[in-house]
Amino acid sequence: MRRFPFICKGFSMTTPSDQRFTVIADLSDDAPALRDIRHDIHRHPELSYEETRTAALVADRLEEWGWTVTRGVGGTGVVGTLKAGGGKKSIGLRADMDALPIVEQSGKPWASETHGKMHACGHDGHTTMLLGAARHLARTRNFNGTVHLYFQPAEEHGVPSGAQQMIEEGLFERFHCDAVFGVHNHPGAEPGTFLFRKGPFMAAGDQVSIVIEGVGGHAARPHLSVDPVVVTASIVMALQTVVARNVDPAQPAVVTVGSMHAGTVNNVIPNRATLELSVRSFDPKVRELLKRRIRELVEAQAASYGASATVKYLEGYPVVVNSDAETEFAIQVARELVGEQNVVAHADLLMGSEDFAFMLQKRPGSFLRLGNGAGEDGCMVHNPHYDFNDKNLPVGAAYWARLVERFLGA
Ligand SMILES: [Zn+2]
Ligand SMILES: [Zn+2]
Repeated sequence: MRRFPFICKGFSMTTPSDQRFTVIADLSDDAPALRDIRHDIHRHPELSYEETRTAALVADRLEEWGWTVTRGVGGTGVVGTLKAGGGKKSIGLRADMDALPIVEQSGKPWASETHGKMHACGHDGHTTMLLGAARHLARTRNFNGTVHLYFQPAEEHGVPSGAQQMIEEGLFERFHCDAVFGVHNHPGAEPGTFLFRKGPFMAAGDQVSIVIEGVGGHAARPHLSVDPVVVTASIVMALQTVVARNVDPAQPAVVTVGSMHAGTVNNVIPNRATLELSVRSFDPKVRELLKRRIRELVEAQAASYGASATVKYLEGYPVVVNSDAETEFAIQVARELVGEQNVVAHADLLMGSEDFAFMLQKRPGSFLRLGNGAGEDGCMVHNPHYDFNDKNLPVGAAYWARLVERFLGA
């Protein structure tokens, strides 16, 4: 992992000329309340499309603060709308609300109260930062136009994802925006550090399900069976050659076998085995190559042992492609807020995927990253020890508020 040599030097990088735009200090009084909201959501994690409690919390707060709220968009999605002045411009800001099926081991006082579910990707923090902006914007209304907040379900779900469902239910027709922005926390960078990248930023993520059919039998008589365990082991090793030997070394690609299942006891050769793969790429041609080579290798390997294989290839989230102008604008706003030294304008490509990519296919905009902690504090997302960094709550909220003010004008 690349280390970012940027040290947060505090967040008071404003000049008198931009005092009318939100600065982080404007959110400091709200920080304890935001922390309480984040911890509340963290204690009550909900999996994809089950975010009823979280959605109600979001919708109730928005209404309380004077936003017009539409519930049930794309399942449990919530849209908040606020207008100020007569301006025709509009902006969309998105947060995701779902948790993951992981047993939390963070040991935090606000740890999950539901065994086997956990906010291990920081979506509790994303939701809370956007709520922080909502409260502040409703109070100050220092903008001229329309703001839509898209609180989406099911980012972790895979297709059909929450963003897809909201779009299918007319998100951008019913709640039009000229540009859309989203954020994800970023372990490996200091809190308060913003990371951007124009063009492709995060990979396309596909899913492959493989079933290997052999002939089961007695463990003592292997010659009378076709052992799918051996076939599967061979396939797993063969798959390692796809990226190493077929893909252009200058092109990023990943083939990971995340799940392998066969058999139940030591003295039975099972009938079948299954594999689940995660496949990542940026280039459409590489994506096609991976698809073809995985199928060829799996089928030929299985056949060579007298077994058969079925390969189900599911195209998942597309590449996150940030538009140039909106990303440049978003970088500028971050520089104003936290200073040049806390902004990485050209971050490394990321092999993770994001369903915000679907929103960026419909509207220009930018997906950015906000450091969650480096070194010992840099626990990776989807890890049972992970926790969103509360230091970012006022930072992220102030960023969204300022982005709105700068985008729509006063
Ligand atoms: Zn995640
Ligand atoms: Zn996430």
